[in-house]
Amino acid sequence: HNGTPLAEIIKCVNFAAVKHKNQRRKDPEQTPYINHPIGVAFLLVEGGIDNLAVLQAAVLHDTVEDTHTSNEELVREFGPEVAGIVAEVTDNKSLSKEERKRLQIVKAPLASQEAKLVKLADKLYNLRDLDRATPFGWTPNRVNEYFHWAAKVVAGCRGTNDFLEKELDKLFAKRKVAI
Ligand code: NDP
Ligand code: ZN
Repeated sequence: HNGTPLAEIIKCVNFAAVKHKNQRRKDPEQTPYINHPIGVAFLLVEGGIDNLAVLQAAVLHDTVEDTHTSNEELVREFGPEVAGIVAEVTDNKSLSKEERKRLQIVKAPLASQEAKLVKLADKLYNLRDLDRATPFGWTPNRVNEYFHWAAKVVAGCRGTNDFLEKELDKLFAKRKVAI
């Protein structure tokens, strides 16, 4: 993990693309999953973020949670800083879904600024996706519950990036979610 910044970014994009190659998003079009981590990193670029480790962690943020990738593998390939940010935004999959959702709300305020940036961009991407198209099998109530839960996680990440927070607030206003 000591190439040029551009080379390191491309290495991350390739690593994530290989890891997520058989996965699809939950939208009706079943968009390739890799669109999401790339899009999360691009939201950070739009928000003016140029911290290399944050952009790398954004591209890699769902590899440990959703693919056969270990934290040690990320440390080896991308170093402890990037792996550490990814670890902060990774749910413990041995816990119930309910407990994982609860812990995201409780732990968000304790996260580093770098992890909060990735969390905000991840929530913005997912909420925009849900606002655009309802996943197959989801009721309007489930979408609504997701917006309300996400607003609680976002509340713990505020004061981190104006662009991301303003874009999130536009969506919460549109969906009539109190912030
Ligand atoms: P899931 O966790 O099952 O799905 C949401 C996650 O899927 C996102 O956080 C995102 O994670 C990923 N994702 C993939 N594609 C999309 C997309 N197109 N749009 C948005 N996100 C996408 O959903 P829930 O959080 O709703 O599931 C758990 C909760 O839902 C439980 O707390 C349970 O109570 C509730 N539930 C409600 C039901 C209902 O009908 N009301 C039914 C079942 C559960 P990533 O960033 O990691 O890709
Ligand atoms: Zn994600």
